[in-house]
Amino acid sequence: LVQARNVHKSFDHLEVLKGIDLDIMPGEVVVVLGPSGSGKSTFLRCINHLESIQKGYIEVDGEQIGYRVRKDRLERLSPNGIARQRRKIGMVFQQFNLYPHMTVLQNIIEAPVGVHGENRKAAIENAKQLLQRVGLSEKADAYPRQLSGGQQQRVAIARALAIKPKLMLFDEPTSALDPELVGEVLSTMRDLAKQGLTMVVVTHEIGFAREAADRVVFMDGGVVVEQGKPEDVIGNPQHPRTQAFLSRFL
Ligand code: ATP
Ligand code: MG
Repeated sequence: LVQARNVHKSFDHLEVLKGIDLDIMPGEVVVVLGPSGSGKSTFLRCINHLESIQKGYIEVDGEQIGYRVRKDRLERLSPNGIARQRRKIGMVFQQFNLYPHMTVLQNIIEAPVGVHGENRKAAIENAKQLLQRVGLSEKADAYPRQLSGGQQQRVAIARALAIKPKLMLFDEPTSALDPELVGEVLSTMRDLAKQGLTMVVVTHEIGFAREAADRVVFMDGGVVVEQGKPEDVIGNPQHPRTQAFLSRFL
């Protein structure tokens, strides 16, 4: 579903991604680990075209992000074209950023109805199903401030799912939560993983990586240092930098 090849990204003179290669299969759950500043968030943002890359390419669902083929040549996409590609990709951030003046239900239907012009009734039906999926059926008419952080993050997940993405990106979705609220969000994500959603999850939750990931990718210094099954990468890391990183969690 995702093919990243030799992805390079710099901010001015700071090279943050130095040639990332990564393939993600449909239905796969990939957890990305790595120290602060290693480029994890930047890489997720490149997949979603929130950042443009300077070298290499990223393909999602058979299309190169930010480009289209026209008369056998690659052409930069218009903002409309980029919006169409982004529709395939849902993203959940550390800060849930729900619209405070909208109810839970309104938050969830905003993108499908407001941005993509979907039928309102159908979007509401879908939103209710999504709320059930994240265990918040009772909260459709609540406002974000009436919810706990964990509940807000689960609404943010439902909101990201509302555009029916083929790929979900999570950037440290539990890092802003009080410790007692982390479990409910991880459990929601575990359910999604079991249901076959393709997910890329940046997290420091090693337990989640161990249980839910099909593959763990360890990034450091803007490259993929090591990747493989969780039991290999976490249980028996080969690279000294992976070993050093993981030793902090023992
Ligand atoms: P963390 O675990 O702390 O979230 P990360 O692996 O997600 O770290 P990134 O946020 O991708 O790391 O940042 C990688 C590097 O890129 C850092 O040195 C950061 O300062 C730099 N960087 C990120 N975004 C920008 C930006 N918009 N402009 C300039 N530099 C940036
Ligand atoms: Mg980050």
